[in-house]
Amino acid sequence: MNNMLRLNSVSKAFGRVKAVESVSLEVPAGSRLAIIGPSGSGKTTLLRLIAGFDTPDSGLIELGDTRLAAPRSTIPAHRRDIGIVSQDGALFPHLSIAENIGFGMARAAPDHRQEIARLLEMVGLDPCLLERRPDEISGGQQQRVALARALARRPRLMLLDEPFSALDTGLRASTRRVVSDLLSARGITTVLVTHDQGEALSFADQVAVMHEGRVLQAGDPRDLYFRPATPFIAEFLGDALVLDAVCQGGTAICRLGRVPIGNVQVSGHAKILLRPEQIVLQSYPTDEEACLYLVEMVEFGGASSIITLGVPRSKGVRGAPIILRRNGICDVRVGDFVTLSVVGTAHVFPDSA
Ligand code: ADP
Ligand code: MG
Repeated sequence: MNNMLRLNSVSKAFGRVKAVESVSLEVPAGSRLAIIGPSGSGKTTLLRLIAGFDTPDSGLIELGDTRLAAPRSTIPAHRRDIGIVSQDGALFPHLSIAENIGFGMARAAPDHRQEIARLLEMVGLDPCLLERRPDEISGGQQQRVALARALARRPRLMLLDEPFSALDTGLRASTRRVVSDLLSARGITTVLVTHDQGEALSFADQVAVMHEGRVLQAGDPRDLYFRPATPFIAEFLGDALVLDAVCQGGTAICRLGRVPIGNVQVSGHAKILLRPEQIVLQSYPTDEEACLYLVEMVEFGGASSIITLGVPRSKGVRGAPIILRRNGICDVRVGDFVTLSVVGTAHVFPDSA
């Protein structure tokens, strides 16, 4: 069955709030879309429209050849073959784990109990949990049960609304991997909503950034991270160094000196993007031509430190300090002089030239 999800110009308003505005997206069968955006940007509303808990004011939602929502016709939520896992798992508190997973499965099926046990095993949980109630297992286990329950209905599409956000970091990573492997193995088309950049970029084949109801940009995770359309998207997806520059002949002249650019055809004033991990910092200058930067502040944060560098006056450009996140073992100290060099190319924001 073709399980490609297609949204065409979907809009939904609550009174004067345009929660979702003219959203068009395509999620190929078996692939994964991550939707990321600030709180209130319309992510949950969009999932609710796809699930059928809300009806769009306009636009079209299709799953394969099935029209889920179109003007004057919608398929009710329970007939859409869509699985949902929400932030809190939303298990039925009065039912056992086995009953939660079995909910909605054909009870008459001869291998009903076996199938439940198999699903529990699939999400990496011990069958001894089957008779417990949701409040007798941990948050991470509840999320996995919620996933097993959603999988039990053999959905054509899986919607995940911040399902890992209530979990601690370690548990979050391991639960995410279990979910990710399972969805891949079953080839289920998936939409994940998250506000965690790393999660969106690592989980998805395609990332969409939402803001005020609109999709600002959607595409391959690497494209969005290294070649975003705007500084807002750049900063939303991770630490970003956005600099004013003058571009010519494939080079940008900026506060860091001359930096090669990816979009070589651009010329004139523009804004460029560098990711902090593209910048190599050396304590012992070997190149006499290199600018020296003064380390003004080091904020140690364990695995990473945030380093503030004063831009040298020597070249007549006195810009704002450069703030970089570094690996925690980077041993520069306040008062040191360092040189900077750039790995790879800078990205020129398309509309800034
Ligand atoms: P997100 O999930 O990205 O945080 P939501 O989709 O929950 O955002 O909300 C988008 C906007 O729509 C917000 O301004 C929110 O207040 C509003 N909204 C969502 N659901 C309703 C509702 N049922 N009634 C009124 N306003 C709503
Ligand atoms: Mg939400």
